[in-house]
Amino acid sequence: MIEVKEPKKEIPVIGTLKAMFIVFKHLFQKPITTQYPEQKRIIEDRFKFRIFLSLDDCVGCTLCEQVCPNKSIAMTSLNRANPRNKRKIYPDVNFGTCTICRNCEEICPTDAIYLTHVFETSRTRNSFTYSPEELSLPEDEVIK
Ligand code: SF4
Ligand code: SF4
Repeated sequence: MIEVKEPKKEIPVIGTLKAMFIVFKHLFQKPITTQYPEQKRIIEDRFKFRIFLSLDDCVGCTLCEQVCPNKSIAMTSLNRANPRNKRKIYPDVNFGTCTICRNCEEICPTDAIYLTHVFETSRTRNSFTYSPEELSLPEDEVIK
């Protein structure tokens, strides 16, 4: 026959005192809440998000589009003078499906497309796609 052991009985007030001790300990700790967006935390170097595009450096080779695993990049016609981009096609990027793999940045032969530390891309318009012109603008100049 298996002997069932009775659980150890603890004096009721001990549990309450332990909980109070934990609360009391936290009274003397520095707050770790960051009052975002007024306060900003330091962003680690390895963190990357918002993609930028240099319209002058893009040669329209479509490599970034081909290498994107999520089809987040689509080549778009843009009528602007650029002797290096004879077909006048440039990538747009859908940030809704981009997984920040950096394939596009690594494959680009002219370093025209690259990821940055910018991450505040919230918007009210119903599209996560940035046109080539928007990709070339600072984030605060992109129409939300
Ligand atoms: S970072 Fe990766 S997923 Fe995002 S656009 Fe570039 S290739 Fe596509
Ligand atoms: S951004 Fe780079 S990889 Fe993409 S089309 Fe332009 S030159 Fe080619």
